[in-house]
Amino acid sequence: MPRPVRIWTLLLWLAVASLGSWALLYERKAALRELFDLDARVLHRVLSQRLEQQETVLNAVAALAEQGGPQVLGRYVQALVRPYPQIVAVEHCGAGGCETLTVPRAALPTLPYAPSDHPTVHWPAGGGARYALGLGTVRVWVDAQALLHPSDLPRAPLTLQIFRPGPGKLVMEHASRIHPAALSFRVEKQLGTPLEPFPIRFHRDYSWAMWPWGAMAAWSALTACVAWGLARGLTARRQAERALLNERHRAQGIVEASTDGIVVLDPQGSVVQANPAAFGILEGLHPGAEIRKVAPFQATLSQAPLNAAQFWQAAAAQVLPDGTVLQRGSERVLVEGGLTPLFGEHGQLLGRVLTVREVGPLRQRMLAQLDAGEQRVREHETLLAHVSRLSTLGEMSAGLAHELNQPLTAIVSYGQAALRLLTEEDADLSRARQAVQGMVGQAQRSAEIIARLRTLVRRAPAQRVKVDLVQAAHNILTLCRADMQRLGVEVNLQFPPTAFVTGDPVQVEQIILNLVRNALDAMQDVPERRLLLSLAQARRQWTLTVQDSGTGLSVAALAHLFQPFQTAKRDGLGLGLSLSQTLAQGLGGDLSGGNAQARGARFSLALPQWTDHDPGT
Ligand code: ADP
Repeated sequence: MPRPVRIWTLLLWLAVASLGSWALLYERKAALRELFDLDARVLHRVLSQRLEQQETVLNAVAALAEQGGPQVLGRYVQALVRPYPQIVAVEHCGAGGCETLTVPRAALPTLPYAPSDHPTVHWPAGGGARYALGLGTVRVWVDAQALLHPSDLPRAPLTLQIFRPGPGKLVMEHASRIHPAALSFRVEKQLGTPLEPFPIRFHRDYSWAMWPWGAMAAWSALTACVAWGLARGLTARRQAERALLNERHRAQGIVEASTDGIVVLDPQGSVVQANPAAFGILEGLHPGAEIRKVAPFQATLSQAPLNAAQFWQAAAAQVLPDGTVLQRGSERVLVEGGLTPLFGEHGQLLGRVLTVREVGPLRQRMLAQLDAGEQRVREHETLLAHVSRLSTLGEMSAGLAHELNQPLTAIVSYGQAALRLLTEEDADLSRARQAVQGMVGQAQRSAEIIARLRTLVRRAPAQRVKVDLVQAAHNILTLCRADMQRLGVEVNLQFPPTAFVTGDPVQVEQIILNLVRNALDAMQDVPERRLLLSLAQARRQWTLTVQDSGTGLSVAALAHLFQPFQTAKRDGLGLGLSLSQTLAQGLGGDLSGGNAQARGARFSLALPQWTDHDPGT
């Protein structure tokens, strides 16, 4: 995945994951706030009811004391206060002091009697959570700590504080705090009755554990998966787009580079696009031009004249008939080419492609290349022919002696015969003429032999360089290809990729040429013509074997193989094999030959393997 895509994916994922997590936190916070508000409302309601209850008790006690006196009050008061645990005592006061009418639930602080005809709240010094509600002659003592029963508390921990109105002194507290707190809610209200308008404060802490960690982790993981998948998809898409673009550029490049004119047409035959070669061939070509007008083809020289209407409307690929000409201004140009329809995915016609090339220049180019190739082959052949005429002085002398011996002996015999005939009394002139003619003929043959041998040039010093026998053999096969094709020779090559030897490239090729030429000569008159060239490596030598399916070596040829001037051919010189062997031995190798097992002859050229220590790398 490319780096920018990775970074953008990460940023996107961070944004989405944070937003989602924030939404989850917000939702959880809102739910907790709602719960807190509900709990505070319920507790506020419960405590307000408790205050109302104790004021009701105060009014009832005061009424009883007024109507029935302390005796009646004493009878009922215990039953009256029992359901209210926060009422810790009821007192009846008079001029002599205050008397407790109930069994006190807690020790009462000292509070001087102050009669009042309306309900009042008394806060005795050192009373703590205890205070008295007074009306007439009675006092109802309340313990604020008992206002709240454990069963009133909600499940979630909550801190609750009740204060005295006015000075704001803390009267009662139920504390349940958490440290450290991740979140805190707080609300202040006022408890319900006009007599006891106590400020009350609710407070709740939440620990870090209450955040929706699981949901947040799940959301982050989910969005990470989605973002990763999205990035993969995007990358794949971008790569596919890039590949498509490259493909398009490549196709465009091929079209532009083509030396054939290529014109893309719409279904109606108007030019959409054309490559530079097309602009060179077709006159007046431009996008939007009607192709029929810029490419007025005529196939007048052809067997099947061009039907322009059919050609341009073709639903299948069409080739311009042979001999099609293009009228370009005043000149008529011979062209080749064709028209191919382009179809879309659903088989609808998208347009057509016209390819066109001028035939004249193409043929000229091909002929020029052919000429150049032939020239090179001729040069190579001339070089090898030149080298083939090389021989050692010894071989030449021996050959010369051998060749001239016969005509010289004949000349001597003819001369002696002529002399004898002419010295006779009745000289037979016609026979003497015959003998002299024989002498002349033999002398001419000798002169011919000398003339042929004189053309052999001095041997050039052999080089010792790295020569690839595979390459040398291929060069020779290229030289002889025309002859091999003419004879229909089946060539079989068993070559490694390379076979480097130390030698003289020209001499090595000369030897191989001799062997291949002899093989081809030997296969002239046989029905099956097979030539096998193989290469093998052994004992620091490469051996090239040339085996043919020709007539094979005669007994006479075998007896004098590699001797100069031994030839069975009418126009042969009999120097090829002897020269080749001399060259091979001069290069530190050897040339041997004989008949193959099945049929034909088999010659092996062994040359020293190239080592990197050899000079002339
Ligand atoms: P040339 O080819 O001029 O005759 P060479 O020295 O190359 O001289 O060959 C000598 C003779 O050896 C040939 O005339 C031919 O009779 C015989 N010879 C050489 N190669 C082959 C071959 N592959 N098959 C049969 N005979 C061969």
